[in-house]
Amino acid sequence: MTESSVRSERIARVRAALLAFYDAEKRDLPWRQRVTAYRTWVSEIMLQQTRVETVVPYFNAFMQTFPTAHALAEATSDQVLAAWSGLGYYRRARMLHEGAKVVVRDHGGEMPATRDALLGLPGIGRYTAGAIASIAFGEEAPLVDGNVVRVLARVFGIDRELSPQDDELWEIAQALVRGPRPGDLNQALMEMGATLCTKSSPGCERCPLSEQCSARPGDADPAFSLGIDAHRRPQRVCAALCGASALIAICRAFPGSSSRARGARRMRGAP
Ligand code: SF4
Repeated sequence: MTESSVRSERIARVRAALLAFYDAEKRDLPWRQRVTAYRTWVSEIMLQQTRVETVVPYFNAFMQTFPTAHALAEATSDQVLAAWSGLGYYRRARMLHEGAKVVVRDHGGEMPATRDALLGLPGIGRYTAGAIASIAFGEEAPLVDGNVVRVLARVFGIDRELSPQDDELWEIAQALVRGPRPGDLNQALMEMGATLCTKSSPGCERCPLSEQCSARPGDADPAFSLGIDAHRRPQRVCAALCGASALIAICRAFPGSSSRARGARRMRGAP
């Protein structure tokens, strides 16, 4: 079997597990009850740096006051900021308002239907464009945020400093989102990071990705039961597997050479 076919198989298995997880565990959230590009946009902007529980009542009230991009575009700044009051990071509200005006002025009040066109709206970067394009329009557009960084780093055993701008993570996210149900796949990644693969207490024992994951608790060493900050995890993994983080280079150069290197072998499957 070639290396690329191993990678493809692994991507397919991770993909299937994520979708099964989403079907079984997704939370019932208002923006999922009726999906439109505008509602997805508002929810994603509100969710930036704000917890879901906080966002839900604000989202519901905002949708009552400004049910469409037209309604938002016609509002005054004071009206928009009043609806946002208490949610914080008010620049988000200003950019959303500006974006709605552009949607009305340049797109007849309809949200642009592709990732590339969405990137032309004020306040929409590649994460938000990927979310709207995949969830509302079914485009195979990837996304990476802080939660997705953590999930992908753990599953694919990526052993260096990471941020949501990391090119390798975007490549993995792109490979994962190709196929049916791209919006659900992206939401599954986000949901996994928010509810199961959490920063300090990942639920590995009930995780559908555990068979694919480079960081699940192993039978080789209890210290492998990660914990932990995604940025530090690989060193811990290698220390657990091989006895010292200094052996990372050896593990990566000779994956599978050690009977304890199950995690390192898994890393080979990372795209
Ligand atoms: S097995 Fe654990 S570390 Fe791996 S994805 Fe699942 S919860 Fe996260």
